[in-house]
Amino acid sequence: MTPTVLIVGSGPTGATYARRLLEQLPRVSVLMVEAGPVVSTPPGMNVKNITDPGEQAVARLASQGRAGESGVSGIPGGVVVEGTITARQGTHLVGRAADGSPGMPAAALATCVGGQGAHWTCATPRPMGSERIGFLDEAEWEQHVGAAEELLHVTTTAFGDSPQATAILDAVRAELAPDGITVRPLPVAADPREDGSLRWSGTDVVLAPVLEDPRFTLRSETLAVRLVRDGDRVTGAVLRDLRTGAEEQVRADAVVVAADAIRTPQLLWASGVRPAALGRYLTEHPLLFGVVALREGAVPPREDTVTPVDPIRAVVSVPFDEERHPFHAQLMFTPVCPVPLPDDSPYRDNPAGYVGMGWGVRKWPRPEDRLTFEDEHPDENGLPGVRIAYEVTEREEAEFHRAREVQARVAGALGAFVEGMPKVMPPGSSLHYMGTVRMGPVDDGTSVCDTESRVWGVPGLVLAGNGLIPTANSCNPTLTSVSLAIRGAAALAADLQPALVAGKE
Ligand SMILES: Cc1cc2nc3c(=O)[nH]c(=O)nc-3n(C[C@H](O)[C@H](O)[C@H](O)COP(=O)(O)OP(=O)(O)OC[C@H]3O[C@@H](n4cnc5c(N)ncnc54)[C@H](O)[C@@H]3O)c2cc1C
Repeated sequence: MTPTVLIVGSGPTGATYARRLLEQLPRVSVLMVEAGPVVSTPPGMNVKNITDPGEQAVARLASQGRAGESGVSGIPGGVVVEGTITARQGTHLVGRAADGSPGMPAAALATCVGGQGAHWTCATPRPMGSERIGFLDEAEWEQHVGAAEELLHVTTTAFGDSPQATAILDAVRAELAPDGITVRPLPVAADPREDGSLRWSGTDVVLAPVLEDPRFTLRSETLAVRLVRDGDRVTGAVLRDLRTGAEEQVRADAVVVAADAIRTPQLLWASGVRPAALGRYLTEHPLLFGVVALREGAVPPREDTVTPVDPIRAVVSVPFDEERHPFHAQLMFTPVCPVPLPDDSPYRDNPAGYVGMGWGVRKWPRPEDRLTFEDEHPDENGLPGVRIAYEVTEREEAEFHRAREVQARVAGALGAFVEGMPKVMPPGSSLHYMGTVRMGPVDDGTSVCDTESRVWGVPGLVLAGNGLIPTANSCNPTLTSVSLAIRGAAALAADLQPALVAGKE
C-alpha cells in the first residue's frame, strides 16, 4: 500500500515536509490541508510581490481569518510597519490574556495558503552560538541549514549593488566595528530582479514544484478539527470543509501538524494529546523598534523610482554575538517613512529617507509562560479557546537596557529618531512564537517532541514550526524551523520506508 501522509498547515514548514517527502519517497501520497484560502498566484506567494496595491490589500484581508465572527480574535489595528515589526495587515490577533497576566496583546497569525510565509519579511539570519539547538549534532545541523537556505532561496547579497545599502552598512560598521561587533548585509529569502528590486520568497518557492505532482493534494479552507487515534497511535484526522461545514475522517500513516506555534498545541489539546510541556515555555523576541530619519548626505540620492508597495531598498544585519551583541538587529532602508508621522513633524518627507531598525532580544524559556486551552470558551472554529500567560522579566529588561544603548549609537550615526521612537513593542509584536511544542533530547516532561520532531509516546504524530524551538534566541526563526522540518522529513521518510517496501511486495 502507498503510505499516506496528512499535513496540517501550508506554511513554510508544512510545505517543506510535502516537498521533501515527495522527493524522498517514490511512492507516497501527501494530503495538505489549510484552514485559510488561496490568496496569491502561485499559491503561497509572498503578497509583497503583488504590485497592484488594491490586489495586495485584498490578499492581506483574505488572510485575516474568520476572527470578526466571534470577537475571539481580530485584525490588529494601529501602525503598519513593513520590514521589522507588527501590527501587520495579513494577520489576525490570537489569544486572550490569562487571568492575572499581561498576556501577549500583539500575538497574531495568518490564515491562508502559505501561512505567515505569504506575508513574512524574509529575514533569514542563521542562529549563532547559544541560539543553536545544542543537543543536535553540529555537522548535521549545518547541512540542514544549508538545505533550508537553498529551499527558501536565501541570498546574502540583497541590494548588494545599491549605493544606499553600502553607505548604511559602512556607517553602522564604522560605529560598531571598533567594539568587535559584526555588521553585514542581512540574509534574506529572495531572488534579485533585473531592476535591482527583489522577488520575495513566499511559501511558493517551497511548494511550487509539488503542486502539479499527482501524488500531492492541497485542500484550502479545510480545517483539521481533531486528530484521530487508535490507542496511542495517530491514524488520521477529522477535517471540516469551512465552505460547507461538512466533516469527514481521513486516514493517514503519519500526520504532520505544522499549524503554527499556537494552533499546533491547540489541535493536540483538542485531540486529547496533552503532554506536560504542551503550550509551555512560550518565547518570542521582545522587540525594541525605532525609525530614524537619515541625515542629509547619509546616503547617496537614489536614481530609481519608489515602488509604493515595496519600498525596501537596503537591508543590514547586526547578528547575535554572546559577548558583544547578544541581540539580533535588523535595519531596513526605505525612502518612505514606515510609520505615520504627525502633520507638523520635521521628519515628514525626509529627502534622505528612513531606516527602520528592530533590536530583537532573547526571552528565556519558563514553564509559566504558556498557552492554556479552554474547551468551555471555544474560538471561532469551535476549537478550544487560547489563553496566554506571558511576562517579560527583569532578565529581558536588562537585555533591553543594553540593546537600547547600541541602538542609540547606530541611530546617532545615521540621523535622528522620529517622534515617539524608539519604543518597546507590545509582547507578541515579533510574530516569532516559539517553545510551545518544544523539542528535547529526552522525554523528561520539559519537551513535547524528540529530536526528529516526533511527539513523545504518540506514534504517527510529527510536529513542525517555530513551536519546536527550545532555545533563548534572538534570530528570526523560520530558517531554523525549515531546517528542523528538513531533518524531521528525512526521519519520517525513513519511518515510512518499511511500509513503502511492504507495499511494493
Ligand atoms: C509580517 C510577518 C513578517 C515576518 N517576518 C519574518 C522574517 O523576516 N523572518 C522570519 O524568520 N520569520 C518571519 N515571520 C514569521 C514566519 O512567517 C514564520 O516563522 C513562518 O511562516 C512559520 O512557518 P510555519 O509553516 O511553521 O507556520 P505558518 O506560516 O504560520 O503556517 C501555519 C498554517 O497552518 C494553518 N492552520 C492552523 N491551524 C490549522 C488547522 N487546525 N487546520 C488547518 N490549517 C491550520 C494556518 O492557517 C497557517 O496558514 C514573519 C511573519 C509575519 C506575519
